Parts: sequence; C-alpha cells; structure tokens
Amino acid sequence: MAKRDYYQVLGVNRDASDDEIKKAYRKLAMKYHPDRNPDNPKAEEQFKEAKEAYEILSDGQKRAAYDQYGHAGVDQQAGMGGAGMGGFSDAFGGIFDEIFGGGRGGGGRSNIYRGADLRYNLEITLEQAAFGTETKIRIPTMEVCDSCDGSGAKKGTQAKTCPTCQGSGQVRMQQGFFSIQQTCPKCHGTGRFIPEPCPSCHGAGRIKQHKTLSVKIPAGVDEGDRIRLSGEGEHGINGGPSGDLYVQIHLKPHGVFQREQNDLHCEMPISFTTAALGGEIEIPTLEGVAKLKIPAETQSGKVFRLRGKGIKGVRSSGYGDLLCHVVVETPVNLTERQRELLRELEESSQANSSKHNPRANSWMDRVKDFFSTK
Ligand SMILES: [Zn+2]
Ligand SMILES: [Zn+2]
Repeated sequence: MAKRDYYQVLGVNRDASDDEIKKAYRKLAMKYHPDRNPDNPKAEEQFKEAKEAYEILSDGQKRAAYDQYGHAGVDQQAGMGGAGMGGFSDAFGGIFDEIFGGGRGGGGRSNIYRGADLRYNLEITLEQAAFGTETKIRIPTMEVCDSCDGSGAKKGTQAKTCPTCQGSGQVRMQQGFFSIQQTCPKCHGTGRFIPEPCPSCHGAGRIKQHKTLSVKIPAGVDEGDRIRLSGEGEHGINGGPSGDLYVQIHLKPHGVFQREQNDLHCEMPISFTTAALGGEIEIPTLEGVAKLKIPAETQSGKVFRLRGKGIKGVRSSGYGDLLCHVVVETPVNLTERQRELLRELEESSQANSSKHNPRANSWMDRVKDFFSTK
C-alpha cells in the first residue's frame, strides 16, 4: 500500500494555512481517536495517518521538504536531526552526513555527501595555553588525484553512465508488494561506471596526501577545548561541502604548576625555621618570580592565594589566581651540632608544651577522650 498524500489525508489544499491544517487535523483526530473507536483497527490506522500528516505539515521546514521532494524528502528526517536541507555536522558522528536522502526523482546525481569531520589531538605546554601560540600541524587528507583530475578514469578513457541504474544512482527493487528504492550496488550511488580505473587512485579520483595547516591557539585554552577549522576536514563527495577539522587541545604536565580551570596551584616547600619565624620567599609565577611574605607561625598545608596570577580563560573576563600550598620541610642530613640545637629547643618547649604545640595537645586530648569512652 503506497503512502497517501499528506494533504489528501487531511483533506486540505496544498496552499492551506497553518490554521486550516490544524483545524482539519483536530476534526480527524476527534473522529478517529482510539478512545472513541475501541476495537476498530481501521480507525486507528486513519488516526495514525492523520497524526503523521499533521506532524509534517505543521512544521514549516518539514512541510517545505515534503512539498519539494514528497515522502522521500521527509522520510529521511529522522537521520537529519530535523535540521532541514542545509548541511549540519555532528562533530564526530558518522563518517558522512548525508545531505539529501536518496530517492529524489528526476535522475542525475542523487547522492551528495558532506565530507567527514576530522579530529587532531594537539599537545601544548601550559605556557602556550596561557599566552596563546601559533603552531603548524600536518594532517592526512584526500586530495584530488593529479593523474586523472579526479575523474577516476585512466588517462584517455572516460567514466560511463552506470548501466545498472542509467546514471540515477538508485535502483528499484521489488519486495513482495512493495517497490523500494535502493542505492545502486554497481556504482554505489555515483551513477557512473569506470571501465578502466586510473592506476594512481584506483578509480577513487582522490589520493591520500598530507597538508600542513597553521593553527592559531587563543590565549587561555584549556584541556579538552576544541578549535574548529571550518572546511579543513575531508572533501565532500559529488560536490558536497567539506567537513571541518577539530583541533583538540591537550595540556602537557607542568613541572611547577597544576591548572584547575583558570587557577594555578603550586607546592611551596619552606624550611622549618622560616615557618616558625616568618620570612620572605621567592615564588614562581607564569610571568616570572614574585616575592611572598611568610608570616611567623605558618603551618604546613596553609594556602596563600595570589590574586590575578593565574590564567585568563578564553571565555572569562578576568584572570584566575595562583594558590601556593605550603609544605614545611623537615630538615635532613643534620650535623651533630644541629641535632644538639634541636634537642635543646625541644627540651625548652617541652616545659610549656600546650603553649608551643597547641595542635598536638588538642589532638592528644581527643585521643584520650576516644580511649576513655571505649
Ligand atoms: Zn586518479
Ligand atoms: Zn548505478
């Protein structure tokens, strides 16, 4: 059973307004609604038919596609994400996005494909990400074959019209009662047949080569960001547009800084004496060395925040911060004299331990509580 014309289904003219279409659908939906027609499969069919017709004709884009290409124009809609007839790209989706569903009447080349999108993984340093850079990348690409100028036919010979489909790229197959259209198996939808293929490209008309592209990396990019180079993906087929090239950013690990969004973190070891007495130390920033005052009695784990010494993100208006995490270093390789001094220090502070080591004391109290309640 062939599909009925949607306008006919709704009983409206081809130039019916949206309102008329809506009204017609309402009327049919009321009449054939399954709730009103229990155990009536015919009514159910008519209800579904009306619903389908309404879904297409009430959507301006789908209606236009239907008007132009008939059922074939909208049957493909599922695969087109409703994006209409224009090209659209699903970043790394299928190999090709088909722009026109097969089966357009009138012969000619019916299979036009957009070229595939490509992805290139680019590793850059933290500094390059922070300040931006320009780099060159070499990517494989399919270019038009020089020997045959893209025809795929050996020099002096020509491609012929495919004898199986007479150039339409489509063949009709009988399957039971149905006659369905399929991509021609001989020419794979190109409509052409090459009796003597070009020896360089084996009839493909394209040949694998490399091209070098210059890529501008904007300041502030982060791990996972993608830069789109429009039209630098694979070439389209049968005159379809080229795909895009996505350069995906990866950051190399840095020896000093760890990045968290636009903030930078770094570890800052200080001596046990500086921690106790305070002092000034030099810390690294992306723009050079900065001085940081360490107050007396600084504990390990303390974080100093240097405002605006982080990174300015691609999409943010200001700079992130630099967070320095203090690690108090236990002295090693001590001389006998140094050990003696430390023992002396220990003895003198033991006398008033709760004053000099408040954290250890409060911890000891909690430990005692813990055991006494057992
Ligand atoms: Zn060739
Ligand atoms: Zn064919």
